[in-house]
Amino acid sequence: MSRPRINTNPNRHGYFGPYGGMYVPETLMAPLHELAAAYKRYRKDPAFKRELRAHLRDYVGRPTPLYAAERLAREMGCAAVYLKREDLCHTGAHKINNSLGQALLARRMGKRRVIAETGAGQHGVATATVAAMFGLECVIYMGEVDMERQALNVFRMRSLGAEVVPVTAGQRTLKEAISEAMRDWVTHVRTTHYILGSALGAHPYPLMVRDFQSVIGRETRRQMRAMTGRLPSVLLACVGGGSNAIGFFHPFLNDHEVRMIGVEAGGSGIRKGRHAARFAGGKMGILQGTKTFMLQDRYGQVQLTHSVSAGLDYAAIGPEHSLLRDLGRVEYAHVSDREAVAAFDALGRWEGILPALETAHAFAYAIKHTGRWKKNDVVAINLSGRGDKDVQQVANWKEGRAI
Ligand SMILES: *Cc1c(COP(=O)(O)O)cnc(C)c1O
Repeated sequence: MSRPRINTNPNRHGYFGPYGGMYVPETLMAPLHELAAAYKRYRKDPAFKRELRAHLRDYVGRPTPLYAAERLAREMGCAAVYLKREDLCHTGAHKINNSLGQALLARRMGKRRVIAETGAGQHGVATATVAAMFGLECVIYMGEVDMERQALNVFRMRSLGAEVVPVTAGQRTLKEAISEAMRDWVTHVRTTHYILGSALGAHPYPLMVRDFQSVIGRETRRQMRAMTGRLPSVLLACVGGGSNAIGFFHPFLNDHEVRMIGVEAGGSGIRKGRHAARFAGGKMGILQGTKTFMLQDRYGQVQLTHSVSAGLDYAAIGPEHSLLRDLGRVEYAHVSDREAVAAFDALGRWEGILPALETAHAFAYAIKHTGRWKKNDVVAINLSGRGDKDVQQVANWKEGRAI
């Protein structure tokens, strides 16, 4: 029996089923509509697509390899494991696929200044990088706690000519950085484009970021076919805001034989304030422009979050993921800080690859299910970023001094 096609394109108000939308102050409605109109025009524009493709190839280094990880497959007890090497993108993570697309769009819209928020610093680095390449002014907002956890990336952004503004409000992490960036955007909207870094926020961001990241899944599909003549049986990715996962999953949504699993940050346990697993402890709410699953208390106040990885430490998940979960198309799970750090070590020893701590969550799930993978399973894992930025954090964690 054939299953109904999944249509996950949002409606014209930006809703994926009941999720998404544009929940912003009046002052941001005009810039969001301007952006949505520009994106609608350029996403189909052959010259825009050509320019994006050329930069992805020559500057980012696409297509990234699909690598058969034989030792990992042996450890997991399945037929094969393929790693999609987004860690080999210029700047070391998938983030640049989106920063580049949005910077091209900003140029088409006549904006000379770009701003961004960053958590782990990877999105800030990617945005500072493309801003330098295009000669755009660049300001990055980053929580003070994250600046401490990710000092290396702060140095990289400043070396690339970006201004890094410490955010001292609230929990001093990603959520507060997004609020500051939105405040800047309202004030400077005539000259400035806000490059949001994940499949989050108000329409058109979840759609636009998903589209720019879908290059990951499109390449994986093509490479799997060429290398093995088949599609993977399972896709695995970590989920912060959800951009690497949605980019990886999206081109496979209507291949119903492909199982998909998104892995959230279980932190130090599913207790209030100790994790960032929105589908384990959250419910529908509105945060920073979008209606989606989020961690909140019984009065609807945003809950504190925790994860060893700064890039997964956010109270809400992208709205398209909420729909995919309701549809049962993607399964969501979580692993703990401890399991993620163990997976970081394991991948280094078995494959000679140090993954980002965010990515290590996907590997932790894979390793944790050793004995439960089927003998003929072919598992594809999105290796969203490299772990160089995290070595100090891992060392601190092992000594019980992690922030
Ligand atoms: C930012 C980041 C993530 C989490 O963000 P998503 O939008 O969920 O992809 C995951 N992995 C790496 C390497 C990152 O830099």
